[in-house]
Amino acid sequence: MNERTLTMIKPNAVKKHVAGKIISMWEDAGFEIVQIKRKHLTTSQAEGFYKEHDGKPFFAGLVEFMTSGPIYILVLEKENAIADNRKLMGATNPANAEEGTIRKLYADSLGENAVHGSDSPQSAAREIDYYFNVFEL
Ligand code: ATP
Ligand code: MG
Repeated sequence: MNERTLTMIKPNAVKKHVAGKIISMWEDAGFEIVQIKRKHLTTSQAEGFYKEHDGKPFFAGLVEFMTSGPIYILVLEKENAIADNRKLMGATNPANAEEGTIRKLYADSLGENAVHGSDSPQSAAREIDYYFNVFEL
């Protein structure tokens, strides 16, 4: 059964002009691009998206980074999309990411790690709903 996941290309990757290369990796791995938009998040939009991390030591830096420039927000679809995207993205810290993963190729650091991907069906549903309305899906 097909599944959807919410993914973002973060400001460092957009700035480096590797968004197209990252999107190609998703297409080559069999993901369907259901929706895509470019957006420069406001502080409150980034805080709301990452509210599960509110209170953690890296929260302020994460919000500052995520609002430092435009991002691409995508809804991707395929069988097992959530887990398969996490695998394709690689470990959160690029130092631990496997060869050939998006983060190994395009992350600059643990904070500036190029991409986000939903980590469960619950977070995928919340995150898709956060950015896209019913008429867009
Ligand atoms: P994402 O949610 O972006 O897909 P993730 O699920 O692999 O990444 P989370 O634990 O959800 O990782 O953390 C969200 C983001 O916060 C990470 O992608 C990273 O950019 C940043 N982050 C997490 N831990 C740290 C840390 N210790 N120091 C700096 N930044 C961090
Ligand atoms: Mg996460």
